[in-house]
Amino acid sequence: LQPAETFWGVVAGRADTTPDGVLLIGDDGTKVTFAEYRDRSERIAASLAEQGITPGSRVAWQLPTRIGSALLIAALARIGAVQAPVIPLFGERETVAALRTSRVDFVLVPQDWPGLAYDSLQQLREDRQGSPEIIALPRDLPESGEVQSLAPPPESPEEVRWIYFTSGTSGTPKGVQHTDSSILAAARGFVLNGRLGELPDEVGSIPFPITHVGGVVYLSSMLLSGFASVLIEVFRPDTATEIFRRHRVTLSGGSTVFYTMLVAQQREAEPGTRVLPDLRLLKGGGAPCPPAVFAAVRSELGIPVAHDYGMTECPMIGVASPLDSDDVLAESDGRPVPGVEVRIMENGVPVSPGAEGDVEVRGVTVCRGYTDPALDADAFTADGWYRTGDRGRIRSSGCIEVTGRLKDVIIRKGENISPLEIESLLSQHQAIDEVAVIGLPDIDRGERVCAVLTVASGQQAPSLADIADFLSKAGIMKQKIPEQVEVVSSMPRSGVGKLAKPALRQQLLTKMETSTS
Ligand code: ATP
Ligand code: MG
Repeated sequence: LQPAETFWGVVAGRADTTPDGVLLIGDDGTKVTFAEYRDRSERIAASLAEQGITPGSRVAWQLPTRIGSALLIAALARIGAVQAPVIPLFGERETVAALRTSRVDFVLVPQDWPGLAYDSLQQLREDRQGSPEIIALPRDLPESGEVQSLAPPPESPEEVRWIYFTSGTSGTPKGVQHTDSSILAAARGFVLNGRLGELPDEVGSIPFPITHVGGVVYLSSMLLSGFASVLIEVFRPDTATEIFRRHRVTLSGGSTVFYTMLVAQQREAEPGTRVLPDLRLLKGGGAPCPPAVFAAVRSELGIPVAHDYGMTECPMIGVASPLDSDDVLAESDGRPVPGVEVRIMENGVPVSPGAEGDVEVRGVTVCRGYTDPALDADAFTADGWYRTGDRGRIRSSGCIEVTGRLKDVIIRKGENISPLEIESLLSQHQAIDEVAVIGLPDIDRGERVCAVLTVASGQQAPSLADIADFLSKAGIMKQKIPEQVEVVSSMPRSGVGKLAKPALRQQLLTKMETSTS
């Protein structure tokens, strides 16, 4: 594990150290070794260069979790392009906002995919004289380019080379700028604290969108410590468990709903059989993992959860060690990774040890600001602390425990959803007087999106289908469309007259409890 390297340097170095080791396993069983990873991505780089992508080109790509995407990451890194992966789940609004803020020159999309036929994208292209250029890639990326004619790989690990988008919880997704150095520091922290790749037969997996910053961090960890992972393109709990079994997966990432999906698979199985006999550890993050989920995984799957904490702006803050005891792990979101300081603040001063407060972080894994510099002032203090917007504490074990968010957010299937954006669109619906969008507990999704509304006078209450139709016409991503609608006669209010969401949520939970009991 050497510091001060570029991402491409790590790819090339690993190909020299363990050329024949397997790095990538497709869900169809296709394999790519470390040497093939370097060689193929270099040929892809040459092909992309022939299409006009040069060092410093700004390239967005929107691809699912598959071998081609992992090769593309390295190919763009070889060229020295600035890459901006766009989450495939993004709808028109989110995608166009992402492309706009990252000022990209190219957008790469799969040919086997209908996406991006957006009116507002055409508008963006007209505004910017035809940029970004959209290139549709075949499933097998072109490898016909002349490697000799490629410019040398980039040298500096401190330049901005990655733009990742936040989930848009506070409205529109923010573009977050990372360097090879911040990405690799996060990967080193993941490997060191999480003790990854220490066991000889380790097989990991990427069941989540590789376009999240966690994708490149996980991939970098595989390169740093030399283990293989299975990439799962279309995630379904039953096929995923079958793929895990077939490839003897020992370690999986993912968020909390993913853990509960695996537990559900085990519960459906014949008594006495283990659906995931090789799995040793669940290692994910991105959403709260209640102690009850830890206990369910422990008792049903027979393994621990070592849950991590991070965000697009700072991909690894806390990483948990599988060597910790169950008591510690059940309430932990990991220990701070090397080179990252964590402080807990209340009203501008540090809290007493163990107390709850606002989580602030500083150090090697923190991003280099946003693509929109106007956002930096609120997010960063003058002396470089990043305000995470999360609440938490440091436990006596030294582990971070995330206790909540300052902001209002729904986490559905591990994806953070902003109620604010849905509310502002729905408030334009003629039949709706007032609306609050909240997350309700849901076994399959973690939380589901529920729209609570009061009906405008003289109007009929809109149905769930009306609302879905209204929002999809507004171009919002499918995952944000409410799955439940509740009509109330009035909204609960706080002392200053603001809509009191916690009270509203409680009201609904009580109503649901009494209707099911
Ligand atoms: P935006 O920044 O656009 O408002 P977002 O913060 O939801 O969106 P992400 O960067 O995808 O976008 O999510 C990071 C957030 O996810 C963290 O700030 C935190 O609130 C939550 N999170 C991550 N890990 C954990 C964890 N272990 N426990 C609880 N919450 C977590
Ligand atoms: Mg955020």
